[in-house]
Amino acid sequence: MAADTTQPLDSKVSRRSLLAAAGAVAGGAALAGAPRVARAAGRSFDAEADVIVVGGGGAAFAAAVGAAQGGTRVLVLEKAAAIGGTTARSGGAYWIPNNHVMRREHGIRDPKDPAVALMARLAFPSVYDPEAPFNGLDQFSHELISSFYDLAPVVIERMERAGVFRSEIAALLPTQNATDGIDWTHPEYHAELPENKAPYGRTLHPVGSEGGGGGSLMTGLATFARRQGVRVLTNQHVVQIATNSKGEVVGVQAQTPDGERLYRAKRAVVFGTGGFTQDRSKVMNYLRGPIFGGCAVPTNTGDFIDMATQLGARLGNMRNGFFVQHVLEQALSNSSVVDDLWIPPGDAMVMVNRYGVRVASEKTPYNEHTQSHFVWDTTRSEYPNLVQFFVYDDVVANDPMQAYGMPIPAPGRRSPFVISGQTIPELASNIQQRLDRLRGRVAVNGAIGPDVKLADGFADNLARTIERFNSYARDGRDPEFGRGSTPIQVSWGGPRRRGNDKNPSMYPFAGSGPYHCILIGGGTLDTNGGPVVDANGRVLHVSGQPIRGLYGAGNCVASVAGQAYWSAGGTLGPGITNGFTAGENAAGEAEKEV
Ligand SMILES: Cc1cc2nc3c(=O)[nH]c(=O)nc-3n(C[C@H](O)[C@H](O)[C@H](O)COP(=O)(O)OP(=O)(O)OC[C@H]3O[C@@H](n4cnc5c(N)ncnc54)[C@H](O)[C@@H]3O)c2cc1C
Repeated sequence: MAADTTQPLDSKVSRRSLLAAAGAVAGGAALAGAPRVARAAGRSFDAEADVIVVGGGGAAFAAAVGAAQGGTRVLVLEKAAAIGGTTARSGGAYWIPNNHVMRREHGIRDPKDPAVALMARLAFPSVYDPEAPFNGLDQFSHELISSFYDLAPVVIERMERAGVFRSEIAALLPTQNATDGIDWTHPEYHAELPENKAPYGRTLHPVGSEGGGGGSLMTGLATFARRQGVRVLTNQHVVQIATNSKGEVVGVQAQTPDGERLYRAKRAVVFGTGGFTQDRSKVMNYLRGPIFGGCAVPTNTGDFIDMATQLGARLGNMRNGFFVQHVLEQALSNSSVVDDLWIPPGDAMVMVNRYGVRVASEKTPYNEHTQSHFVWDTTRSEYPNLVQFFVYDDVVANDPMQAYGMPIPAPGRRSPFVISGQTIPELASNIQQRLDRLRGRVAVNGAIGPDVKLADGFADNLARTIERFNSYARDGRDPEFGRGSTPIQVSWGGPRRRGNDKNPSMYPFAGSGPYHCILIGGGTLDTNGGPVVDANGRVLHVSGQPIRGLYGAGNCVASVAGQAYWSAGGTLGPGITNGFTAGENAAGEAEKEV
């Protein structure tokens, strides 16, 4: 039964001409196989609104809030049985450059040129050039970034004034790792880059939401939306976009437990349907690296890509995602993984590949670190880092200060994912036995195939790696990967062990076992490629023209961030900003005839 969580929807409207015309798209090109809508010919609309929002996460509800002004009737259609999407699982932080809280309450300046250069550098590093026009980017991508800088603070402040939620700088807690005299816990992930003139203060969350941010954010958005009269239907799997004879979008069709439903959007439709992490075929074909799972809810299967490409939408950023590492065995048992590794805890800890060698600083922020799994060895024709081995000593395992977060279980708690051995050779042998047991298991686009095994000499190499790491820890300097050399690695990397007056992110391993290991695989928070949208949230046709009446925001569209995760809140900042903007512009569209 489809749940109408508010009142009954508006009355049925004839749509015979829509159905007759459902073979055309914006720009006049014929819509190949336009289909489900045409098959339903002869029925009337099941409901009508000015703006239909598809999806029930943060971007979608920001769109609903943006649209629901001045009496605009808004209908939200969510595929799952409840609203919230991946957003409700999240920390609920949003990254907003030059926001009003940092400016007014803390006197932090965030000038535009360096902020845009920072975003451009991280989003498109292969073409970035600070001296070149548009920082070396194509004009369109640069303008999107520039618009985001302009719009984001305005949107968040408008939401605050309207009473949606108030914002504060995330986690203003004292820390022992004060930098530049500022005693805050959240430096930017890329605070060390010369372009970063505001390394603290861009990450916001709703006031009072520390620790439960995603739920608070969704509650704020959904409560406000409902108060504005927005209607919300769940169990609505939108499968098709309807167009009129001019190629304008005039509705959507959904599969529901009660059969197919056709909904009329008088002005426009906004999609906020998340990424495609949970669609194996799309991940296999589009994504840059092999992943074993992701945090996206199971309903995030990239449906918007299927629908929008039928209308001739241009696709962008398909190879990228907001990447994160997972405990491999969790991802193998359920590709919609709730837990993930941010910056992992533990000072006497290394992460190695199947040869027993480190491949990155273990404290690198998640989006960067995960990409170490994607390295292709051209000589051996293999992904040597596909599965990584998170190895730590028993002191870390039993120290409540060290073992405080994923993937290490709290002291005294047993986890089926922890492999232990009294010595390094015994640990290696137990790891191999575990891999043998997992052999043949397949995940999103990773599998435990014959190559996922420890290389000959793994145990000796691991012992040498630990020996070398111990000497780095004693020096306080990691000459290989610079562990602990950036503010975020120190700030989020775990507490400083008593007696360690050097680099708090490293400490020599205990001389005797037991030692422990957890298998780690690459994954996503969700993907962030899809139809390309302009700064107003309008979906662009391959011709470059907007598809009239069609908008998108959040992880279902090509992200303004390119390959970057700018910092904490780097997905919801753009998602909420662009969702609100898209909703507002959708509401301002002229009514379309059917
Ligand atoms: C533990 C965790 C912590 C995180 N913390 C943060 C953080 O603090 N800050 C941050 O920026 N990001 C964070 N993220 C990432 C963030 O949650 C997502 O990137 C963000 O929520 C995506 O929002 P969205 O609205 O685009 O998609 P979602 O929130 O995933 O919403 C998409 C919705 O669309 C629905 N849908 C899909 N297809 C259809 C269809 N065909 N018809 C109808 N409905 C459909 C889905 O069911 C879903 O409800 C975190 C993620 C996790 C897992």
